[in-house]
Amino acid sequence: MNKNLKVFKFGGASVKDAESIKNVLDITKTYKDHELVVVVSAMAKTTNHLEKVVDLYASGKDAFAELEQIKQFHYGIAAALFEDPKELQTSLSDTFVEIEWLLEEPMEDSYDYVYDQIVSVGELLSTQIVAAYFNANGLSTKWVDARDLVLTDNIYREGWVQWEETIKRTKGKLEPILKAGSIALTQGFIGSTSENFTTTLGREGSDYSAAIFSFCLDAKEMVIWKDVPGILTGDPRYFDNVTKLDQISYREAIEMTYYGAKVIHQKTIKPLQNKNIPLLVRSFIDPAGSGTVITAETDETYPPIVSVERDQALIRISTKDFSFVAEHHMSFIFSQIASLRLQVNLMQNTAISFVVCVNDANDKVDRFANAIEEKFKVNFERGLELYTIRHYNDSIIKSLKDSKLILAEEKMPKTTQFVTKAVPTMRLKS
Ligand code: ADP
Ligand code: ASP
Ligand code: MG
Repeated sequence: MNKNLKVFKFGGASVKDAESIKNVLDITKTYKDHELVVVVSAMAKTTNHLEKVVDLYASGKDAFAELEQIKQFHYGIAAALFEDPKELQTSLSDTFVEIEWLLEEPMEDSYDYVYDQIVSVGELLSTQIVAAYFNANGLSTKWVDARDLVLTDNIYREGWVQWEETIKRTKGKLEPILKAGSIALTQGFIGSTSENFTTTLGREGSDYSAAIFSFCLDAKEMVIWKDVPGILTGDPRYFDNVTKLDQISYREAIEMTYYGAKVIHQKTIKPLQNKNIPLLVRSFIDPAGSGTVITAETDETYPPIVSVERDQALIRISTKDFSFVAEHHMSFIFSQIASLRLQVNLMQNTAISFVVCVNDANDKVDRFANAIEEKFKVNFERGLELYTIRHYNDSIIKSLKDSKLILAEEKMPKTTQFVTKAVPTMRLKS
C-alpha cells in the first residue's frame, strides 16, 4: 500500500448513470495501491430535483410524485449495475423513509432547516450505490456517513465547519479504514450540527468537502474529476476559444472561483493552500490527460481569464436626508451583510450613496433590503451578470462589453469587473 493519500472527488456529472459509475470504478482502480478517500456528489441533477421537492412541500403542494421519480431513478441505476439489486434497493428505500415522514406532516420548521434534511439525501443515495458497486468489483470500500465527520454550526444551507472537532472525527473515523487497506467513500456537501441535525455547506459544496478531508488527513494531493480537461480561461458553456491552464497558483484559483468560475467551489482552495496540498483538476472523460495543477505561487504569466457570475443584484443605498454615507452607516450596512452571509462582489460609494453587487441567492436580498430600508433609501436591480476578467487587455474588455449595458464597473491592476444586464443572445458563443 502506497501511503501517499489521495482524496478524489467525483461530481454529479461523473456519476450520472450506470455507464458513468463504471467509468468511476475504472479510474479508481488505477489508483488502488494508494490510500484513497473518495467523495461522491449526488447523481446527475438529483440535488435540483430534491430542491423541487422542498419547494412543493413548502408551498403546501404534494411532493410525493417528484420524490417517487427520484426514487425510481436511483432504483434504475442499481438495477443496471447489479444482477440482484434487492439488498441495495432496500437500503436506498430506507434512506427515503425519513423524508417521507417529514413530508407527511405540515411544515413547521424553517425552510432552510427542511431544505438541508431533504436535499442531503441525494449524496446519501449516490454514495451507497457507488460503495456497493466498488465492493462488488474488487475494491474494498467502507461507506462513511459524512455527517459523522464534518461538524458545522447551525446555519442551515451554509454550515460553517467547526474545524477542531471535524479534524478529530475525520482522523478517528477514516484513518483506521485507510490503515486496513480499504477505500473510505463518503459524501460531499453535507455535515451535521452538534445536535446531530443535517446541514449542507452550500450548493456545489462537494469540492469543499474533499478539501476538508484533505486538510484533516494531510493528503498528498486532491483530485477533482470533471467533465472538462482542466481549468480553462473561461466557461466553455459560454465562450469559444478557451484554452486549458496547465498550472495555476492557489491565489489565481481563489480569485477566479470567488468571482464566479463555477469549476471549483470557492471555499475549496483555502484548506489546501494552508497545508500546501496540490489540487489537480482532471477529466473523467480523458483520465490520461494532464489536467490543471494548482499549487503555491508559480512564475506563470497568465492569459486573460474570464469568469461570469449570474443571478447578481445591484443594490443602491442612499441616505434619506442627503447626509453623507459616513462610517457609522457603512458599519451598520456591513453588519447586516455579515449576518446574512451575503456575498459582496463589487462595491462603490459616492458622497451620499453606496452601491453593492451581491449574489442574489435564496431570499437574502429581500431580507437585506427589509433590514436597512427603515434607515436608507434602497433600490435594486436583479437578474444581472457580473464579468470578472483577470489579466485583462483592452481587446478582451472591448469584445466582452460589446452591445451590453454596463451598470457598474471597476478596474484594478490585475482585475477588472463590470455588471451588466443579462442578454443571453449576446454571449460570445453562438
Ligand atoms: P461537478 O460535477 O464536479 O460538480 P461542475 O459542473 O460543478 O462539476 O463543474 C464543471 C463545469 O464548470 C464545467 O462543465 C464548465 O462548464 C464549468 N466551468 C466554469 N468555469 C470554468 C472554467 N474556467 N474552466 C473549466 N470549466 C468551467
Ligand atoms: N450535490 C450538491 C449540489 O449539486 C453538491 C455538489 O454536487 O457539489 O450542489
Ligand atoms: Mg460542482
